[in-house]
Amino acid sequence: MHRQKKQADRKMDYKNDIGYRKETLKKLLYNIQKSEDLIVKALYDDFKKPEFEAVLTETNYVISELKDTIKNIHKWAKPKRVFPSLLNFPSTDYIYKEPYGKVLVIAPWNYPFQLALCPLIAAVAAGNRVILKPSELTPNTSSIIAKIIQKTFHVKHVDVVQGGVEAANSLLAKRWDYIFFTGSAAVGKIVAKAAAENLTPVTLELGGKNPCIIDETADLKLAAKRIVWGKFINAGQTCIAPDYILIQKNMKINFITFMMEEIIKAYGKKMEKSPDFARIINTKNWLRLANMLKSEKVIFGGETDANKLYIAPTLIEEPGLESQVMKEEIFGPILPILTYETETEIKNVVSRYEKPLAFYIFSENKSFTKKLIATYSFGGGCINDTVVHFSNKRLPFGGVGHSGIGAYHGQLSFDIFTHQKGVVKKGNWIDLPMRYAPYKDKLASLKRLLDWI
Ligand code: NAD
Repeated sequence: MHRQKKQADRKMDYKNDIGYRKETLKKLLYNIQKSEDLIVKALYDDFKKPEFEAVLTETNYVISELKDTIKNIHKWAKPKRVFPSLLNFPSTDYIYKEPYGKVLVIAPWNYPFQLALCPLIAAVAAGNRVILKPSELTPNTSSIIAKIIQKTFHVKHVDVVQGGVEAANSLLAKRWDYIFFTGSAAVGKIVAKAAAENLTPVTLELGGKNPCIIDETADLKLAAKRIVWGKFINAGQTCIAPDYILIQKNMKINFITFMMEEIIKAYGKKMEKSPDFARIINTKNWLRLANMLKSEKVIFGGETDANKLYIAPTLIEEPGLESQVMKEEIFGPILPILTYETETEIKNVVSRYEKPLAFYIFSENKSFTKKLIATYSFGGGCINDTVVHFSNKRLPFGGVGHSGIGAYHGQLSFDIFTHQKGVVKKGNWIDLPMRYAPYKDKLASLKRLLDWI
């Protein structure tokens, strides 16, 4: 009530007034910057996300996205003139940017601040009304998100609905003009079905089993360092973390030695004491991961503590392809290491799974990397690194097939929440007679014209 009263006199025209959108985004930036310490603390309280990771991948990421959006909003939102078709001569042609209307954003728990706020910022910038449902598994972060949103926006412009599956389902039962969902493929299907009822367009940012392929030309020590970072950041609970290693057989022993060294360098010998290693989000996921370890050959790590929701950074050697760890997306700090000798063996493993969200290759062999990129379909990825493709706003981020529909980041985020309306403005000073019936004797001239343009 208080919030509505306070903002009652303010002219709210987010649909047409780009200045209004920009002002609200500036206010959001101010409120996030003011609350940064509280956000970082909330992330720690939810699953001991280390402060460094919270700043790098959550608060700073969102702040940078906001600044970029504020800087570019007028450029992105203004009608864009395009070259007209000569068939329409004389005309000027424009793409008008129209907000979809009412947008629903459903967010997951693993990067609970960033993955809730980034789509929200883009949807607001594009002129939409937004309802955000953050994850119920990160109550501290979701609660601070709700406070920031309530402080920033008029309730009729942007609002937060907190809750779990029930809340998500009652939101999905309503009619929306756009739905942006980040989460598992299983829930993605539920969202897609609900959206289909009203032919609502969707972006689905899902997950998958991301391969990391290492050939005999790779710089193994550097590869190990970059894989350890990308796999164990957020305790492996990252949609684009390498899910499994597929390494040229002769390289395996050296690689494992480097991996062990790098893990110890990053988290120390008493890894459970490291302030830089997060915890598993809840008991359900902890049990799922702990069970994966039971029948595997653990060659490093493997320690678990149910009370602390701890699972050590763990390496598993040559699991069976039918084992649990190779059946589903791991989404935790467990890294299976498999080997190959021929390219057919790579194919036999990679092709067992749906198209992954990310794909990593460590190699100095250009034709090998080129071939892998051409052969396999995947959302995005890196050569000689992991995860970092996420950080370039100029690269589209999203999956393909079961790893997702649509992509965002940078201007693309603004564009996905925008209907692009193509309009031809015809000049009246001349009206060429060619297209009008009767067509008698005009066909030959038409063919000449079509050949010419
Ligand atoms: P999830 O699918 O369980 O939950 C995501 C959201 O959906 C939550 O807000 C949750 O409340 C809601 N939800 C859960 N069950 C639902 C149901 N039955 N009906 C309607 N809504 C429901 O996913 P999660 O566990 O929060 O996140 C992990 C998954 O998300 C992994 O598969 C991961 O790869 C994927 N992910 C993808 C990206 C990406 O950018 N592509 C980013 C992060 C996570």
